[in-house]
Amino acid sequence: MLKVGLTGGIGSGKSIVAKAFEMLGVPVYVSDIEAKRLMNTSSDVRKKLTARFGEDVYSLKGDLNRKRLADIVFNDSKALSDINSIVHPAVREDFKVWSDKHAHLSYVIQESAILFDTGLYRNFDKIITVSAEEEIRIQRVMKRDSSSRELVQKRIANQLPDVERIQKSDFVIYNNNELILPQIVLIDKEIRSIG
Ligand code: ATP
Repeated sequence: MLKVGLTGGIGSGKSIVAKAFEMLGVPVYVSDIEAKRLMNTSSDVRKKLTARFGEDVYSLKGDLNRKRLADIVFNDSKALSDINSIVHPAVREDFKVWSDKHAHLSYVIQESAILFDTGLYRNFDKIITVSAEEEIRIQRVMKRDSSSRELVQKRIANQLPDVERIQKSDFVIYNNNELILPQIVLIDKEIRSIG
């Protein structure tokens, strides 16, 4: 079974592309969602987060107190990288367990916006980048999240440029005005022929 990474900048359309692969029968592990789940359910993650940030990052009910954590990140420049160094290894491990359950398939996909930023890309046999022009991405995210242009631009500036992601990828899906399904069907066919 091949492990395929799916990445792309904010607003490029990773989620839509992931849904299309799922429609073709490919299991997709969405890193963001699973990271949030693990922060609530993994006792190891919980232990490490409370050791670093204090017991009150979890509510009395035991749910992660996102507001408290966001406040900590806002005031402590090292906090985000510390959270990442606790959560990222847990996600990596969880993805391994998850993908082992699909060992009979020709491939599975892990979706992550920060595949190249974290070194995670080394774990994959093939990498797909979703690419769209910056202005289109800005407009999409402003609409989706009701955010300001400045905020979206800042988030884009914090990510790798599209061109770098494309250089390091095996496949690129262009999601400006072109149809994405024919591109996805072709890539799916090619990966199945290797896997
Ligand atoms: P993020 O990194 O923020 O999670 P993403 O890469 O997953 O972003 P999506 O959420 O899939 O991006 O897409 C961003 C927004 O743009 C969504 O509201 C989505 O519905 C819309 N969108 C994506 N592709 C298209 C398209 N081809 N035409 C119109 N709208 C689109």
